Amino acid sequence: MDFIRYAERSAGLLNASLPDVDALRAHIADREWLVHQCTDRDCMLLRKFQRELRPVFEASAAGETAAVIDGINDLMVRHPITPQISSHDPGSLHIHVASKTQSVAELLVGEALLGLANLVCDLGPARLGICAASPCTNVYVDTSPNQSRRYCSDRCSSRANVAAYRARQKAVASA
Ligand SMILES: [Zn+2]
Ligand SMILES: [Zn+2]
Repeated sequence: MDFIRYAERSAGLLNASLPDVDALRAHIADREWLVHQCTDRDCMLLRKFQRELRPVFEASAAGETAAVIDGINDLMVRHPITPQISSHDPGSLHIHVASKTQSVAELLVGEALLGLANLVCDLGPARLGICAASPCTNVYVDTSPNQSRRYCSDRCSSRANVAAYRARQKAVASA
């Protein structure tokens, strides 16, 4: 697992609706070994973490880079991370968040924070954003080379393009 993917998952975690355990299971359906460990408490902790993490994305979107760094640092104090050297790919040792000793919520929170901390160090604190296709308020992580991302998804991007096209047509028609 590389840090970019951890960081991208943090956006996915923030955008997920997690009213109950079934929703959490669906959110991590691609990680079968975790699905059976989900509890109500994990859902509750993750909803709380969503509220704590959102201001970090909002600060980045607003260009408040110091608040991004402070925010992630504060969250890492509140949610201590246990990194482990993983050898599942012996040719390429790398860091994982420890998964055996922690709850699902602790694991997902740890991955999100480790991913975001590394993203900020590698690509800078201005890479987090809020979708520009209102009324969508989803967040995204911008890993594009020219830092040009504005939407949470292809769906929002094409919706915004259609809206802009219609607005232009209307302007032409009334000119
Ligand atoms: Zn790995
Ligand atoms: Zn969106």
